[in-house]
Amino acid sequence: MNRSMQPVLAGVVALVVALALMPSPVEAQARFFILNVNIGPTGFNDPTPVEPVGGNPGRTLGEQRLGVFERAAGIWSALIDSDVEIVVQSMMNPLFCEGGAATLGTAAAFTAVRDFDGAPLADTWYHVALARSLSGEDLSPGYPDMFAVFSTNIDNGCIPGIDGWYYGVDGNPPPGTIELLPIVLHELAHGLGFANLAREEDGVLFQGIPDIYTRFTFDHVAGQTWADMATNRERVASALRCGQVSWNGPLVTAEAPNFLALGAPVLSVEQPGAIVGDFTLAPARFGPMLDAAGVSGTIVAADDGNGTASDGCEGPATTGTPWVNGAAVAGNIALIDRGTCSFTDKVRNAQDSGAVGVVVADNVASCPPFDLTGEDPEVAIPSGRITLDDANLIRSQVMPVEARLGLDPTRLAGTFGDTGQVLLFATDPLIPGSAISHFDTSPFPDVLMEPFANFAGREVGLTLPFFREIGWRRPLSVLEIPVLEWRGLAALALVLLASGLWLVRRG
Ligand SMILES: [Zn+2]
Repeated sequence: MNRSMQPVLAGVVALVVALALMPSPVEAQARFFILNVNIGPTGFNDPTPVEPVGGNPGRTLGEQRLGVFERAAGIWSALIDSDVEIVVQSMMNPLFCEGGAATLGTAAAFTAVRDFDGAPLADTWYHVALARSLSGEDLSPGYPDMFAVFSTNIDNGCIPGIDGWYYGVDGNPPPGTIELLPIVLHELAHGLGFANLAREEDGVLFQGIPDIYTRFTFDHVAGQTWADMATNRERVASALRCGQVSWNGPLVTAEAPNFLALGAPVLSVEQPGAIVGDFTLAPARFGPMLDAAGVSGTIVAADDGNGTASDGCEGPATTGTPWVNGAAVAGNIALIDRGTCSFTDKVRNAQDSGAVGVVVADNVASCPPFDLTGEDPEVAIPSGRITLDDANLIRSQVMPVEARLGLDPTRLAGTFGDTGQVLLFATDPLIPGSAISHFDTSPFPDVLMEPFANFAGREVGLTLPFFREIGWRRPLSVLEIPVLEWRGLAALALVLLASGLWLVRRG
C-alpha cells in the first residue's frame, strides 16, 4: 500500500528542533513521553518553590506542572496499548486571558496518516499516534504524536475569582482553583483521536479524504455519515443539527448503558395537540433531580411586574415583592426568560410564588440548550432550560399549554432516539473547533469528552470504547478504569475547544 502522511500543523514543526530538552518518561508503562519544550526558567522549568499538593510531590512549580501531565499520560498509557512510544510535545506558556475569558490550553495531533500497512480502512486518515500503533512502526520519524500547550497565566490571577491551577492529582481541588488533571486528560484524548480532521466551517475534509472520526459521525436527518456525504455543504448543515448527530459505532453504543443514566430530560407537552411532543430540556445543576414522574402543570409566563417582567428577577425570594401573576403561577410550571439575574434567583422567585417547576427560555436563538448553572441549597423545585425557538412556539399558543417537566424513561441521557447512540456536539450557531469533535453536553452523568469542563465528567468512561472503536488496542493487562471525582466549578463554564481551550464567564 502506498503511504501518505500530511502534517496537520506544519507550523509547529519548527518546535521539534528544540527537542534537545530531556524527555520525561512516564512510569506506568513507559509508552508516553511528555516532551518538555519549555526553554528557560518558565512553564515546566519554573523554579518557584512550592509545597507538595494533593499527591503531587513536586517541589517546584515546574515539577508539579510536569507531574500533572505525566499523571494524565500515565492514566491513558494504562488503558491503551501501543508498541510505538507516544510523544506529547508539551509546554506551558502565557496564553490569552482577559475580560473573564481565557485560553486554558490546547492539544491536537501533530499529523495524520492514511493507507499505511495495517490500516483498518483504506482512504481514511488516522491520527498519527494511532497510525503508529496500528502499523507498529514510526510512520513519521521526527514528528511527535501531538502537541499540548497550557496557560501559565491562570496562576497569575488573570481570571477573577480564580487563584490558579490545582496541581494536585487527588481530585480534591479547593474552591477558587481549576483542576488541571482532567483537562489534560481531555486534551490528550483529542490528540489520540477524539477529533475529526474536517472543518465544520466549510465542511471540507482533510485533503478531501475522510478521517476515521467522520466515518462514525452519523447525521440522522441526512441518514448518512459525514464520510459518506457527497458535498461539503451537507457537512456544514449537519454540524448545526443539534441533537441529530451521533456516534454510530457499535462499541460506544453497546457501552453507553454502563455509563449513562436511563432517562433523558424533557419538557413533554401534552396540550394543545398542535405542539404535543417532547422538547429538549437541559436540566439545572441545582435543586432536585428530575425523575420519571416529573412535575406537571400549565406553563405560565412569569410576570414580576418590574422592568423586563418576564425575567423573574424580582419576586418574593429576592426583593420581597410578589409576582403580578403569582396566583396563576402557583401549582404550575413557570416560564422565565434568561437574563439580568442568576438562574437560581429566578427559580427561587418562582418557587416562592408556588410554582412546581421552572422552564428558563434562552434569550438568544441557539441550540442545544445548555444546563442551568448555579448553586443554591434552598431550591426545592426542578428546573431546566429550553431553546428560544421552543419557548416562542409555546408562547404563540392560544390555548393553555399543559406540560410535564421530567425524564423520558425510554432513552439514555445524551443519546439519540431509540438507537442508543451517544450524541455528538452539534451546535447552532457553530462553535468552530469544538463542534462535532466532542460528545454532546446532554450525557448524564457527565462524560470526559463533553465540551464544557464544568459539566464534564472526570471518568475516562465512554472514551475507552471510543478509542477501541477507532482502532486503539486495549492493553493485555486487566483494565481498571480510574474513577476520578469531579468537583464542579460553580459559576464558570470552561469551554474546551479542540483547537483551543477557553474559559468564559456566564452571566
Ligand atoms: Zn475538548
